[in-house]
Amino acid sequence: MCLSICPVKAISGGPGRLHVIDADYCIGCGACARVCNSSSVIDQNGNILTHESKKHWMIPHFDASKCSFCGKCYEMCPAGIITRPFSSKVPELTNSKLCASCHWCEKVCVFNAITFSPAS
Ligand code: SF4
Ligand code: SF4
Repeated sequence: MCLSICPVKAISGGPGRLHVIDADYCIGCGACARVCNSSSVIDQNGNILTHESKKHWMIPHFDASKCSFCGKCYEMCPAGIITRPFSSKVPELTNSKLCASCHWCEKVCVFNAITFSPAS
């Protein structure tokens, strides 16, 4: 599960094998820890990170009235799941299940057009 949710493919491993995070690629989103049912992910201080149901994950919402259509969130998303429909140009998530809740899109938006709320 961590392999599939990691937006930057920083995790190696496979079924029955130890999974390893490459710190050079990790962006610290914490998604791998939130999907891990066995609480096997620790932070840099040795603290065990806890599993969190996907329905409680925060996902972005795009406010068309504030959006300047600059496209920075679209370019920044490490999961590649933000698109801009030709008809409206307002960003939207193509697959919210793949959102790592890294908040990068929110941080890059200087118009505060992106807010977060639980997925459901
Ligand atoms: S914290 Fe995020 S970027 Fe880093 S390994 Fe886990 S899922 Fe990948
Ligand atoms: S929080 Fe934003 S930038 Fe991060 S994966 Fe989700 S949509 Fe992409």
